[in-house]
Amino acid sequence: MSVSTAERYARHVDPAFVKLLGVLGYGRQFTRASGSWIEDANGRKYLDLLSGFGSASIGHNHPRLVAHLRSFFDDEPLNLNHTGVSERPAALAEQLAQTAPPLDAALFSNSGAEAVETAMKLARSATKRTRILYCEGAYHGLTFGALSVSATKRMRAPFEPLLPDCTAIPFDDLEALDRALDRSVAAFLVEPIQIEGGVRFPRDGYLRAARELCAKRGALFLLDEVQTGLGRTGAMYAFEHEAATPDALILAKSIGGSIAPIGVTLTTRTLQRKAFGSMRTFDLHGSTFAGNAFACAAASETLRIIADEALVARSRDHGAEWLAALRVRLAGHPLIAEIRGRGLLVAIELRAPDVAGQWLSLAMLERGLIVQPASQVWRVLRLEPPLTISREELAHATAIIGEVFDANRSVAPMLARTGIRAAAQFLNRGRFR
Ligand code: PMP
Repeated sequence: MSVSTAERYARHVDPAFVKLLGVLGYGRQFTRASGSWIEDANGRKYLDLLSGFGSASIGHNHPRLVAHLRSFFDDEPLNLNHTGVSERPAALAEQLAQTAPPLDAALFSNSGAEAVETAMKLARSATKRTRILYCEGAYHGLTFGALSVSATKRMRAPFEPLLPDCTAIPFDDLEALDRALDRSVAAFLVEPIQIEGGVRFPRDGYLRAARELCAKRGALFLLDEVQTGLGRTGAMYAFEHEAATPDALILAKSIGGSIAPIGVTLTTRTLQRKAFGSMRTFDLHGSTFAGNAFACAAASETLRIIADEALVARSRDHGAEWLAALRVRLAGHPLIAEIRGRGLLVAIELRAPDVAGQWLSLAMLERGLIVQPASQVWRVLRLEPPLTISREELAHATAIIGEVFDANRSVAPMLARTGIRAAAQFLNRGRFR
């Protein structure tokens, strides 16, 4: 008998993940994707309301991006250029500078976590101060530096001690920020919306006031828009809702069009010069693949697609309509505490234990929808489809979400069903599916 992909994956990549997928029978082998749809190995299609945790904003395998990347290879381009300057990163940096003035200098990396670390290094070096303030509930990635400014105890504990001089303060609390912002603080790092932390929106005016406080105290204001950036919230960047332009804007995920890994820390030339601007310091930021031509070509084309297809306005308008439709369809549901959203980022917060979020996500998967709870707060279902999703597809999603909530109106039977399912899976030896 041939060994299945799930078995090989368990054997050689990640046994615990495969086991976890088997606990409730969550497992699927997803193989193909196009637009808003993902297909499994049996040819069944699922509407994607997760977008690779906010990475597939232009949809999966956008035909224009795929064509662009195919033709990219026609010229036998030099992908990694370590001994000279390169056209692709220069062009991408110029494009990005036009989206977020006065930020006009791009520091390239390969992931969100690296882009966060780049911002932290920029802040320490440019200000000659050491302390980084971050928020309770924050998620900035899993490398050592990024983990040092992320809040989840379970993820931090095995690796402590983490980076010194990183201090958590409550999110959406200006007084706490005011108290903490002394002369040792190099930067305040914050997400405009804490998505993994439960799709938490701060009060209106928070980002703007935080931005001003930082400027007054000589600390940098670092904004992690890895997930909120590039149209997700109905503005190109979430900071635009409050005109709270940061000193460094952190981007990753969707900028690579869901195909190329790329992180960008966009800052001002002045700050870049302070931190990395001399012949002695120019190479203190870098990585072998940072700014590689392929990833930059993907990002440039992704930005052009976002502009040409007016995806930011589409996110704003379709998002507002969808939020209203979900509120009507789910009105009065006893398990729902709140439905909130901005652009094509919508959260359904449950009045139920965390496991209910996983159960409902599973029920949606079985009806052909890909949904995941916020990774750090499972009782919040986070919905973030590709920005290219159509009205009809959104209506389809609303209908299925409605059916799943109709079938699950109270906690006790839901927990009982979860228990029965877990027991059956146990007897099945945690069958993948
Ligand atoms: N910041 C935010 C806000 C994120 O949502 C994530 C990923 N979920 C990261 C940083 C880390 O990005 P990556 O997984 O690419 O390292």
